[in-house]
Amino acid sequence: MSTVLVAFPELDGTQACRDSDPELFFPNPSDAAGLAKAKAVCATCPLLRPCAAYALTHAVAGVWGGTSESDRQRLQRRHGMPQRVVWSSPSASTRQEEATS
Ligand code: SF4
Repeated sequence: MSTVLVAFPELDGTQACRDSDPELFFPNPSDAAGLAKAKAVCATCPLLRPCAAYALTHAVAGVWGGTSESDRQRLQRRHGMPQRVVWSSPSASTRQEEATS
């Protein structure tokens, strides 16, 4: 099944994360409190839907559109979408991503 790649959302200055430390959105996947903090910011964001749609169709690390990597993997499986695998290194600046299909 092919999936249309959703365009990166237009960041018009209303994004709720605009003044946040970017590291907030890259908690350890097992850090439930860290994930909840990032998702709480996204919950107030007017760009939540386009941001989540972008993340679902790309291999991105961290919390996007109120979804964690494992949330997106679950949604991709549930909806028969290609699984996107993110290969992460310890440094956010050196993350590499790769789509499996
Ligand atoms: S949904 Fe979350 S990650 Fe996406 S732009 Fe809004 S605050 Fe930032």
